[in-house]
Amino acid sequence: MIEEIINVCKKVKSISKCRSCGGSIKQDTCIFCGTKNNELTELISRLNSLINSFRSQVDISNIIVTNNLFNHLYSINDFEIQSVNQLLSVVNYHNLLEEQFQGITKKINNGDKLSKEDYDFLCFFLINNQFKDSLKLGVVNVLIKGIVNKECNFDISSLEEIVKTFVEEGIKNVIGLKYTHCKIVEYNDKRTCGSALYGNVYVNKAQIRHLADGKITYLLRTLFHEMIHVRQYQRRKDAYISIYDMILLKDEILSDASRKFYDDNYFLLSIENQAFMNESKETLDYMEKLEITPSREELDDINKDYEYHKNFCGATIRIWENVPCDLDTLFNKSIYNNPSVLNQYPQLSLEYIIDGNLVRRKNKKEIESEYKDYLEGRLQLNGNPKEIEDYFNFLLSMTKENIIK
Ligand SMILES: [Zn+2]
Ligand SMILES: [Zn+2]
Repeated sequence: MIEEIINVCKKVKSISKCRSCGGSIKQDTCIFCGTKNNELTELISRLNSLINSFRSQVDISNIIVTNNLFNHLYSINDFEIQSVNQLLSVVNYHNLLEEQFQGITKKINNGDKLSKEDYDFLCFFLINNQFKDSLKLGVVNVLIKGIVNKECNFDISSLEEIVKTFVEEGIKNVIGLKYTHCKIVEYNDKRTCGSALYGNVYVNKAQIRHLADGKITYLLRTLFHEMIHVRQYQRRKDAYISIYDMILLKDEILSDASRKFYDDNYFLLSIENQAFMNESKETLDYMEKLEITPSREELDDINKDYEYHKNFCGATIRIWENVPCDLDTLFNKSIYNNPSVLNQYPQLSLEYIIDGNLVRRKNKKEIESEYKDYLEGRLQLNGNPKEIEDYFNFLLSMTKENIIK
């Protein structure tokens, strides 16, 4: 009987959208086009008769509470099926959810093992957006740990939601940004793990299958890598000033302008080196926090990659037409005819100035005067004061008295 109610709930839940127009459904009818779904009509009448067959409301309230049936009933509460919603209000489900969550929290705090039902509860309510933002990452952490330790498992679409929440909450709590949007997509190139575009993170669907197998290390590296790219984007947009941020900005602009530059320099680019270095660090920190131990092989890979990319961090040699060049030399050439870049990234006007219709580097006198403006509060800059000071000193040290175009 209970099993049957659960089954019917699952079937109702699986028909979430109108087949004709994709609209939302209330009871058995699409609220947009009015199409009736006959399967739903049948399921609802089955549900009504199951619920009515209980002797009294008190009976079923007890059964609902002791069997966690309310989770399933709650999952279809958007359909506004009268018998279901009436029951939910009788058992006061808000209190039940709160109680169940408190019970699980207590177990976690005591270091007790969670049951399969506990995990299902957490996953279900995470996906249905029932947790406050401040709780979401904690819930995701518990779920990921459970998956890796094979204490629970979820279908692919639930895993996708867990990964999306990890990225969107992780960017706030781990990476320290306000917001990102994460999407799971199918790539034509199976080797692509993920990508970041503007403020968004994209993850290859194929990566989710690793999580289904309980493998987390490479997925985490992908997620953190793309999250670091989002942070780079954000700092660029906020005109954040430091020596390294300026190198990142120039690499990014040249990569945007030329796919060949990006491909030829992939392993030299500051944007990639910073992402690779930080993905390693963040992944190890996160796994340690969750008490998940990477395999020997995974750990060797991470350490090797970290050391490799550390060597290139801050380096400004780039390849152009098969010849090693200095990043600034390349950038000076690319911006020379392109004054609009200065409007797009105002932070560049610390180093460059429009002279006639062309762009040239500022000379020592010009930089000194703007540094003075900054120190005396006439020029507002975004960044860490120490890093801004280092940046100006670096800039002055590499700028000759009279700069040649
Ligand atoms: Zn419709
Ligand atoms: Zn990358």
